[in-house]
Amino acid sequence: MKSVFRLRNLLLLRKKNFLTSARRTLSSLVNKRESLLPDDKLTLQDFLVVGKNLPKPNEIPQEEPLPPYLKNIDVSGENRKVYFDVYGCQMNVNDTEIVWSILKSQKYQKTENIDEADVILLMTCSIREGAENKIWNRLVHLKGMKKRRGKKSDPLQIGILGCMAERLKTKIIEQEKDVDVVAGPDSYKDLPRLLALGKNGVRIKEVTLLGQNVNSFRDLSKENQEPEATQLVPGFKTVYKTKVGGLRFAELLERIANVSPELRIRFTSPHPKDFPSAVLEVIAKYPNICKSLHIPAQSGNSSVLERMRRGYTREAYLELISRVRKVLPNVSISSDFICGFCGETEEEFNDTLTLIDEVKYNVAYLFPYSMREKTTAFRKFQDDVPHDVKIDRLNRMIEMYRRNSQLLNQQLIGTTQLILIENQSKRSKDEIYGRCDGNIKVIIPKSNEINVGDYVAVEIVDANSQGMKGKMLGKTLLKEFYLN
Ligand code: SF4
Repeated sequence: MKSVFRLRNLLLLRKKNFLTSARRTLSSLVNKRESLLPDDKLTLQDFLVVGKNLPKPNEIPQEEPLPPYLKNIDVSGENRKVYFDVYGCQMNVNDTEIVWSILKSQKYQKTENIDEADVILLMTCSIREGAENKIWNRLVHLKGMKKRRGKKSDPLQIGILGCMAERLKTKIIEQEKDVDVVAGPDSYKDLPRLLALGKNGVRIKEVTLLGQNVNSFRDLSKENQEPEATQLVPGFKTVYKTKVGGLRFAELLERIANVSPELRIRFTSPHPKDFPSAVLEVIAKYPNICKSLHIPAQSGNSSVLERMRRGYTREAYLELISRVRKVLPNVSISSDFICGFCGETEEEFNDTLTLIDEVKYNVAYLFPYSMREKTTAFRKFQDDVPHDVKIDRLNRMIEMYRRNSQLLNQQLIGTTQLILIENQSKRSKDEIYGRCDGNIKVIIPKSNEINVGDYVAVEIVDANSQGMKGKMLGKTLLKEFYLN
């Protein structure tokens, strides 16, 4: 498996901290996340947002937390030798010092002799064409070195840092298959992990696009031949201005799904107003996009929803659920609910209970209301539901939700599910767990055949409201599993 996969910079977008001087190009306002993906499937560069029409921060899918199998990566440099090839101005000299201090802290050694280097990092300059040409030519030479080193010993790793990494990330990723890492200043702190991942040939198997209202994402820096306005779900309103043109969330999902059939995709946390048919159809079309949706309701009562300024009624929400289930019949649905919102009566709360019962959520996040300053509710309403009433309502919500989630999980007993192994079970060293497509935890007996990050077909043998137990049927690939 070693060396088969290369480190690439792509996938998720997040707001960038400018770490260096204003001389850095303004076109690099957006961060990237590094990932490892199969060589021939790397076309996600288009998701890197560049330019002045940057989406607002709350519209940008943010960096996902590391999955457990990446958290456990040993980032030690194990005394591997790094050679820095520095171009450009004083800023690159300063950045080289920063990078070196990061790598040194992870037991890398520095070398002045390129022939003995295990890692060659080019600190690039893109001030003019000539400066960039110098780097392209240098790469030809380095790729030759890498080839000669072969796979006999530790493979030579090549990294592109600095201004060219920011300006030309897409081109470098697409064109330079022998480059292992492309990282701008925002990613320098991750370099030990990125180099370790590349060295160990680890693949990312699952990504979760994270962001508040993630499904309202629109990359307005992307041209669109047929500019289309944002289509809200019928019955849903928003106070935000309608956006036109650009790359929409449905297209983003589709592009990510096409990166690799083995990459499992989730997203959270969406707003129910942004589930147009196009998004649902893309989810239905790709087996590697999980049929597991978070559709936060917050309350089941239309008056409470209005006081919360949610922009929809109970009826509109139920209509959405029914439309989602028509397109995705086996979808697993999760939600958020709050009880005891300002002025919530017993009757209004009962609507929440009946909604939970009617929809039947696989997962629910349930909270008693707690007023926060600087919110509309703080300015307009009183937090007047007594604490003990809130706790009583919370307990009733939990009971209703658990009753249904237990039934849903038990209905899966006897079915075959694909799980992605995540970690050792906390309760028993003889067990390991993964998550099925519906994002429910499935515990299975440990086996020497399976490792964290493997896809495993399991038969569900037991279930409760919290999760399921399974029997391993065999290791598989996501694509294979859904073909059968
Ligand atoms: S390295 Fe080159 S492109 Fe980057 S800031 Fe310095 S002069 Fe400008």
